[in-house]
Amino acid sequence: MIVIVTDLDGTLLAPRTCSFAPARPALERLARAGAPLVLCSIKTRAEVEAVRAALGNRDPFIVENGAAVFVPCGYFPFSWDAHRTEGEYDLLEWGVPYPQIRGVVAAMRAAGLAVTGFADLGVAGVAHLCGFSEEEAWRALQRGYGEPLVIDGGAAAEARAQGVAAAWGLQLVGGGQFWHLAGPHDKGKAVRALSRLFRRRWPGVRLAGLGDSENDRAMLEAVDIPILIPSASGEIGLHLPHARIAHAPGPAGWNQAVLEFLEEVGEQSR
Ligand SMILES: [Mg+2]
Repeated sequence: MIVIVTDLDGTLLAPRTCSFAPARPALERLARAGAPLVLCSIKTRAEVEAVRAALGNRDPFIVENGAAVFVPCGYFPFSWDAHRTEGEYDLLEWGVPYPQIRGVVAAMRAAGLAVTGFADLGVAGVAHLCGFSEEEAWRALQRGYGEPLVIDGGAAAEARAQGVAAAWGLQLVGGGQFWHLAGPHDKGKAVRALSRLFRRRWPGVRLAGLGDSENDRAMLEAVDIPILIPSASGEIGLHLPHARIAHAPGPAGWNQAVLEFLEEVGEQSR
């Protein structure tokens, strides 16, 4: 058996359009083989669930950069130690609860820093800043474990914000348009925990992972077959020796790399 673990933005989903249409042939082959597809993203649970619904996916998934793994109840045919159960999911959880994260945003303000988080922007503000529809903005605001921040005041303010975050045991990571304030978790720990469950289910299982940027590093180091997806301009977002490199950006590269991997392993079914 094989399991595919994948990043979403810039990997399975094309930048801007968020389309996965070019990946359909590989998605269909995976479904036919009964091979699990684990979505592993910086997105919130609500955002990942929207993608799962569009894909018709029913496998476990990883949210907010490894803050939590959501496993549909009864997915594995054995009992295992979930950290807690919420609705139809058993959870493994490493993220710091969102109210605590917002407490640290308040501490930054108390220290005189001009920081603005998603919660401060609201649906209209997030929609405007991110180019989202109101529905997409609402999903991005359903945060469990971290807050995207705009920090005014340049490098000095950013360094001071880093100091406040560290004093509270949090990480403040720059990710382009926003800084991201969250606990010290990453995709790798979540993938390793989930892969232990898959290995119990299928002892010989092989995991392939697909990602396009530095925050996928820990995830790609935790799988058997790491695959890098180039950006639209052909750049590779991270250096990872021994990783395969897809021949095209986004979902087209994803499609080709997954089909190639399926050929190699002979596409066994469960
Ligand atoms: Mg990405």
